Amino acid sequence: MTARVLVVDDLLPNVKLLEAKLNAEYFDVVTAMNGPDAIAICEQGLCDIVLLDVMMPGMDGFEVCRRLKNSPATAHLPIVMVTALDQPSDRLKGLDAGADDFLTKPVDDTALFARVRSLVRLKALTDELRTRALASREYGLIGDPLAHATAETGLDARILLVDDRPSSYERLAASLGQYHSVTVETNPIQAVARAAEENYDIAIVSLDIEGFDGLRICSQLRSLERTRNLALLMISEPDSRPRILRGLEIGVNDFLVRPVDRNELLARVRTQARRKRFADRLREAVHESMEMAVTDALTGLHNRRYLDTHLAAMFDESMRRGRHLSVLVMDIDKFKPINDTYGHDAGDEVLREFAKRVRSQTRGIDVVARFGGEEIVVVIPDTGLEIARNVAERVREAVHGEPFGIHQDTRKVSITVSIGVAARQPADRSAQEIMKRADLALYRAKEGGRNQVVAAAA
Ligand code: GH3
Ligand code: MG
Ligand code: MG
Repeated sequence: MTARVLVVDDLLPNVKLLEAKLNAEYFDVVTAMNGPDAIAICEQGLCDIVLLDVMMPGMDGFEVCRRLKNSPATAHLPIVMVTALDQPSDRLKGLDAGADDFLTKPVDDTALFARVRSLVRLKALTDELRTRALASREYGLIGDPLAHATAETGLDARILLVDDRPSSYERLAASLGQYHSVTVETNPIQAVARAAEENYDIAIVSLDIEGFDGLRICSQLRSLERTRNLALLMISEPDSRPRILRGLEIGVNDFLVRPVDRNELLARVRTQARRKRFADRLREAVHESMEMAVTDALTGLHNRRYLDTHLAAMFDESMRRGRHLSVLVMDIDKFKPINDTYGHDAGDEVLREFAKRVRSQTRGIDVVARFGGEEIVVVIPDTGLEIARNVAERVREAVHGEPFGIHQDTRKVSITVSIGVAARQPADRSAQEIMKRADLALYRAKEGGRNQVVAAAA
């Protein structure tokens, strides 16, 4: 994933050095040598992430950061403060100014690329959510799309801390516990089982567990279906560079080096919590839009598109396994006069209630779909004609038995339904042949005086 990185530093050699490193990893680089220029570039939307020097004459890095984070046009840009190693208090000031992460000078390559990649991923997710939120505003689904997409504090994360040294995990858990809920697991084998069973946002794994390879835990967490979406952070000794690189290669999101700086820890955990939640939200949105594509908006039943694909699959399955398969086609009697007399909205109320009553007489494995205007089709697997006819009879009674409320239930109207039933026969070549017989049976039910069930001859 590539991105445009804005490097801000008042010293040309520093700018050139970072530019060269980033270029070598195929990032696009934009540069600025003072605060006001940096802000102008951000406001024009010319970068995806900012590496910001703290010490600059005139407007310093903290001020630039504060201004960017306080302006709606630039608040979503991730900012990495580049601080001097001997100034740990700068990190606290950076956090207060709204910085997302830190790098210390001289900038180490592994840290640089890990930070930039991690924040670029976060930015990509935020952008996608913003785009989606803007689209849903057009449907009136949410109020302020920008606020909606970025209002994620990254606090209250559920964290699994895998570390076996009390002196280490006690300190880490105390820092994290102020903003998140932390569970410590000292046994690496248990840790993986626990992550799979319980519901965490983030796993933080020590690479220095006695007699165990922490990277193995990371790789297992990445490969298990139930844990692969966890945010993963590793903690290592400063001299384990090759293992950190290996960890990043196998998909660990970011790392911390001992002794762990408290502010760095909190910043990195927040970034990962936000990224994880944005990614979860996007996955849900994709799932929802897939559901919407196969759902009828008025009744919440499946739509015709869903029925077409599933009926064919259910037909093949019943052929292969030599099982029964039945279809009910139902159509409300004299529905047009309901619309004409009480209005279209009242007609809609009847349709929704009709769908509900049909649902109440069928099982979860039956497919219930709105086939057209006031027609519903039910496909019943593993069921022959006689039992399917009983189901149809129950539906007919459920509709006829109790009048339907309209005009917000202030009025009642009597509704009846006619139902045609057919079952798969050995000679059938496709589901359409069952549908055709059920349709003919429905036609006969209408001809026979409506409010009745007719089963196609076996
Ligand atoms: P029959 O007993 O022969 O089925 O008579 P019918 O009046 O029910 O039959 P017809 O097919 O002529 O009328 C169906 C009506 O359903 C016509 C159409 O306006 C109405 N309709 C179709 N879809 C909707 C809908 O989504 N909402 C409402 N309110 N009415 C709908
Ligand atoms: Mg009708
Ligand atoms: Mg009709």
